[in-house]
Amino acid sequence: MAIERTLSIIKPNAVAKDAIGAILSRFEAADLKIVAARMLHMSREQASAFYAVHQGKPFFDELVDFMSSGPVMVQVLEGEDAVTKNRDIMGATNPAQAAPGTIRADFADSFTENAAHGSDSPENAAVEIAFFFPEGVCPRTR
Ligand code: ADP
Ligand code: MG
Repeated sequence: MAIERTLSIIKPNAVAKDAIGAILSRFEAADLKIVAARMLHMSREQASAFYAVHQGKPFFDELVDFMSSGPVMVQVLEGEDAVTKNRDIMGATNPAQAAPGTIRADFADSFTENAAHGSDSPENAAVEIAFFFPEGVCPRTR
């Protein structure tokens, strides 16, 4: 299996409930290395640009309002099969369908406020990583 990178966001509701440490611990426990990280409070414009693929969908405005409602923690995770592994750790998009023990099962407050974002393909991961880390990401010493 190839070493991949993926873009992970701890969403405003999870930051607000002080779950940053608990969520990052899950990535580290699964051998996903944190190779870049930053905290920021996105503007509506930034959130709209990040989620541009969802423009026009019924949940778009609520999603943008939510993602710009407070600070988020953004990190790049690196490891074997990182894209799929991160999505497995997060659980289903709809927290009502997220498996027990997943981030969304444990920290979501609603479908929109579902605690975490993870890239859905290595190609989209590269675009999303460049969105938040335009200066690039250093290789991590193992
Ligand atoms: P994922 O985050 O699992 O990749 P999507 O890319 O489909 O899911 O959607 C992006 C985000 O938009 C979701 O994580 C969730 O916050 C929100 N969202 C998606 N679908 C809905 C919906 N039907 N109702 C409310 N919010 C939604
Ligand atoms: Mg998605």
